[in-house]
Amino acid sequence: MNEHPTSNLHDLSQHWMPFTANRQFKDAPRLFTAAHGMHYTTDDGRRVLDATAGMWCVNAGHGREEIADAVHRQLLELDFAPPFQMGHPLSFDWATRLAGIAPEGMDRIFFTNSGSESVDTALKIAIAYHRARGEPGRVRLIGRERGYHGVNFGGMSVGGIGVNRRQFGQLLPAVDHLPHTQDLARNAFSRGLPEHGAEKADVLEALVALHGADTIAAVIVEPVAGSTGVLPPPKGYLERLRSLCTKHGILLIFDEVITGFGRTGTPFAATTFGIAADILTTAKGVTNGVVPAGAVFVQRAVHDALMQGPESAVELLHGYTYSGHPTACAAGLAVLDIYAREALLTRGAELAPSFEDAVHSLRELPNVIDIRNFGLMAAIELAPRAEGPGRRGYEVMVDCFRSGLLVRAAGDAIALSPPLIAEREHFEEMAAILGEAIKRAS
Ligand code: PLP
Repeated sequence: MNEHPTSNLHDLSQHWMPFTANRQFKDAPRLFTAAHGMHYTTDDGRRVLDATAGMWCVNAGHGREEIADAVHRQLLELDFAPPFQMGHPLSFDWATRLAGIAPEGMDRIFFTNSGSESVDTALKIAIAYHRARGEPGRVRLIGRERGYHGVNFGGMSVGGIGVNRRQFGQLLPAVDHLPHTQDLARNAFSRGLPEHGAEKADVLEALVALHGADTIAAVIVEPVAGSTGVLPPPKGYLERLRSLCTKHGILLIFDEVITGFGRTGTPFAATTFGIAADILTTAKGVTNGVVPAGAVFVQRAVHDALMQGPESAVELLHGYTYSGHPTACAAGLAVLDIYAREALLTRGAELAPSFEDAVHSLRELPNVIDIRNFGLMAAIELAPRAEGPGRRGYEVMVDCFRSGLLVRAAGDAIALSPPLIAEREHFEEMAAILGEAIKRAS
């Protein structure tokens, strides 16, 4: 049997793939051709259990007909409307519905097309906010080591993944970083939030002393860091960050591109943790991943600070051709209906204990050096191979794919974030397939 039938039918050379080892992939492609519910189908007809909700986004599962129907109807009725100085009703309806599930006071919503755009939008709003209030010197942005905030220049600059930054030379000036919160020595195999490390938030005090609070516009963090291998915040960490930001007049931006829309057991991690952010960035689950879209939730006071000057003036010189695109709105509204009808935005809290048990059952396997989880996010971290970091993680990811399971490899951490429609049996199957792959990679 031909191992890669599609590669004979399609020329793979023209498409320059994102964040992919193109030559390696095209030598041995991994292609999906269909998806329904919890499963993908590969080009050679195999079913693959989706343990990653696509890429942290397909929270309501695959192939939801209501969303497809809504998008189809919308395209026939109103395919596009210019978003600058013109509008269409659906974007207002969608914003109203989103505000209804948002943390308190975060009811001003700016639409984008991706997580990266949401992040850069949030950073620009933060700087513009301080300027509007008469503090134009507040331009410095603070991110965190190992943070991922997308790939545009703003998000890349506040991002804390060295390899993602190194290729691109000069990034934004006036950026600094907090230390990351991973602490294997003290916190390995924590279930839920780790005990140790809240004091790492205090480094913000040192950055304030170094740069001056009056130069700092915002701190941006993922409430639970996702892309570098699921790092739940230490107990008390986010509270300390919030109180330091408040003390120094710094805006706190939560990047909820992954944690938004039910991943942590409530609609947003800000709600789960009971922390009031000033700006919250989302994408992915906002449309169940089916139409590219993002939404930036802004505290009313931040928004209102910019609503000044002559009424004819554009208050924020920012926006995208596809901000609030009719198809995104139609998809997003249909997704909110599904989330509400099936109570998916809180289902993660019910599923979390059985998910936690399933992932921690892998603890005794060879080379497993940490397992961590929160809500429906988890990572199993493996010791790197002697040949270098990332090899073992990649090997396990490919092995799982061949054995019928989609996982993500973040270096040597295997990340899981199943759709919120998952059942307990799915978690057991995930652990079984992943466990065998880990053994084979020993
Ligand atoms: N922010 C976070 C926390 C993310 O996890 C991601 C993507 O995974 C992004 C931003 C970037 O989103 P996008 O790939 O849609 O631009």
